[in-house]
Amino acid sequence: MTERQQDRRRERRPRATESALARRATAATPTDQVTSLLKLSSYLVSVLDPQEILATLLSRLVEALPSVQAGILWLDHNGRLRPSAIVGLTLEPTTTQLLMSAQLRSGEGLAGLALQRGEPQIVETPLGYRDTAEQIAPANRELFSQLGEQLPRRITAAAVPLRVSQEIVGVLELFNLGDSDARPGWRPLERADIPVLQTFANLAAAALKNAQLYAEAQRSERRLKAFDAVVTAIQTAADLPDLVRSVLDVVVDLLPGACGALLLRDPALDRLDLAAQHGLPPACAAMLHQMAVADSPCAEVVHYGQPMQRPLLEERGEVPCLEAGLQAGAYFPLLAGGTVAGVLALYGDANLNQRADKEMLMPICNQVGFAIANVRLYADSQSERRKLNTVVTSIAEGVLLCDALGRLTLANDAALALLRLESLPFEQPLAAMPDFYRMRDLEGRPLTLAQLPFARALAGEVFQDYRLILRGASGDETVMSFSGAPARADDGTIEGAVVVFRDVTASQKLERAKDEFLAVAAHELRSPLAAVRSYADLLLRREQQREEADPRDLHGLTILTQQVTHMLRMVDNLLDVSRIDAGQLDLQIQRVNLVSLAAQVIDQQRPAASGRELLLEYDAEELYVECDSLRIRQAMTNLIGNAIKYSPADSAITVRLRRVEEGDDTTTGLDGPHAVVSVTDTGAGIPPEQQTKLFQRFYRARSGRAEGLGLGLYLSRQFVQMHGGRIWVESIEGAGSTFAFALPLHSVVGRKA
Ligand code: ADP
Repeated sequence: MTERQQDRRRERRPRATESALARRATAATPTDQVTSLLKLSSYLVSVLDPQEILATLLSRLVEALPSVQAGILWLDHNGRLRPSAIVGLTLEPTTTQLLMSAQLRSGEGLAGLALQRGEPQIVETPLGYRDTAEQIAPANRELFSQLGEQLPRRITAAAVPLRVSQEIVGVLELFNLGDSDARPGWRPLERADIPVLQTFANLAAAALKNAQLYAEAQRSERRLKAFDAVVTAIQTAADLPDLVRSVLDVVVDLLPGACGALLLRDPALDRLDLAAQHGLPPACAAMLHQMAVADSPCAEVVHYGQPMQRPLLEERGEVPCLEAGLQAGAYFPLLAGGTVAGVLALYGDANLNQRADKEMLMPICNQVGFAIANVRLYADSQSERRKLNTVVTSIAEGVLLCDALGRLTLANDAALALLRLESLPFEQPLAAMPDFYRMRDLEGRPLTLAQLPFARALAGEVFQDYRLILRGASGDETVMSFSGAPARADDGTIEGAVVVFRDVTASQKLERAKDEFLAVAAHELRSPLAAVRSYADLLLRREQQREEADPRDLHGLTILTQQVTHMLRMVDNLLDVSRIDAGQLDLQIQRVNLVSLAAQVIDQQRPAASGRELLLEYDAEELYVECDSLRIRQAMTNLIGNAIKYSPADSAITVRLRRVEEGDDTTTGLDGPHAVVSVTDTGAGIPPEQQTKLFQRFYRARSGRAEGLGLGLYLSRQFVQMHGGRIWVESIEGAGSTFAFALPLHSVVGRKA
């Protein structure tokens, strides 16, 4: 703008004329001014809406004071002054725009100075507005220069801080634009007016602050009520659809004119489904019916878990909403922990953003998110429970589940029937009713608490075929076989136990009958077999001594002797088993040199080894152990015999003996000083799943060899254990096996099997 244009502009302003001068005589008196300010103050104090105060304060002030024709109301935003209202300034639109977006630092311009010093400032500027400012930041230079050009040259400006106690909430910048025709009662703005203006400003600031506090309190109350309403809706909802519907109703009712939808997220399909809607135009509802998260308008909300508000746009495919007259959308994530369970979508006019108060809606959405997650979790756990129940009830075995205190949590019908109970004590902890199940061990002795199947499983034990007697109310007894295991939480702590059991009374009786039969049969067979073997032996020796022995007879007699010996060994094994069962197997403990015992066994086995090399390894010639030499010889014979039976003809078998001092080798499982005997072959080996079963009675792995009853390892284990020892196997399929046993050097025996 040129100097000339500026001059013309100024000329356009009415100059002080005769009549204006005449009016000056009737100018408002200071008392009039105080009265108008008091009136205005009492009005402000009665207004409860801070927005209304901000909107009317300045215009009313200009109206009330003949010495002020224009003003800017600056508000403090974190130390910067920003204009909140402009009144009475005739400015070009671009200048108004510049002014509206201006920010003044403390000390900058007259208003900034009032903020910095905390007291009113007044300047008379014969050279225009530019002169009101001592320091101006580069960003505001253009603004101040334009204001200087567009405002009259001679103005008086006053800046009065709006102070509440120690805090300055803003600055009132007031202008007297010079002697003017336009206002009746015009008078100059003078230094003397300042105290009254400051008092007024303080009152206005207090009114503003009060209104803000009141509005904040109102907002908090509204938020609290809304939150309360949502919580009630959640608590009274019957199911998930009911919950989302009632929550949405509450939320939309809070925002007059808005409509909305609640979208639930299906995490498996990463999809949003419309679960409830309130007031949505049908085309909008159809749009939201079902969407892949990525294609939905709220993909970012689901992704980042942050709310988002924005105008609706054609290019985002939101045409149906736009056509229905909606202009803005607000999307809030329904958060449950770290995941987004759904989205609250609200639609309305362009002002929706102001009404959809984040601080009110986010806590509500979090609450709803958690409620949805809980309902889903509950539904999932119910369905899992139903499945488990179906499985458990269809099992023929009795199944019982208990919690960490041993209180029953689940039992199937089979359990009730097997326990012969009408009902089960679901509330009682195990310790409160140790004899409820009337369990006895196989000898008929009552169980201690720790021996109960639940107690064993709760102590962390996994067990199978734990046989107990259950005594019925009428004194009848059934034998049950229990298996049990602890139920562990993710962190490994035991939170319960499961016990499965079945009635084995019949099979137990059958087994007993079989054992008795075998004992009798073995006993009856032993004498004739022994006789046959003596005679076969005798005949063989005679034939061997005969000068012209017939090789075919010699061969036949050798075979006969071997086979009868083998049969006799099997019968002896059977007799040993029945002796053990009857508790009649006593050990004869002596000091035995295991090295010479092993050498004898190897010598005896050599004829049967048919070409296999039998090696004996030891550290010292003597390894004395207190044991029953007969039974340990039997164990060695079984292990070496098996190594021969189950390894190829030209292979080597190594028998190793070693002495282990206390604490030297923890792998043997024995504490004190002990001897270890191991037999290693290079046979086919044993698959891992069979290794645990080898020592069971009558167990025979599928080895293809016909001979044997599957008693050798069982008896060997019994003998070793009777000595307080331990027997084990290490085997690699295809590479061979090592069977070993450890015996304490000093007898711990005195007990029967
Ligand atoms: P038996 O030899 O009479 O069958 P045992 O109780 O001595 O009975 O052995 C049980 C099973 O263990 C055998 O049937 C066999 O399958 C397996 N077994 C024992 N020793 C060995 C071995 N050294 N190598 C491979 N398998 C073996």
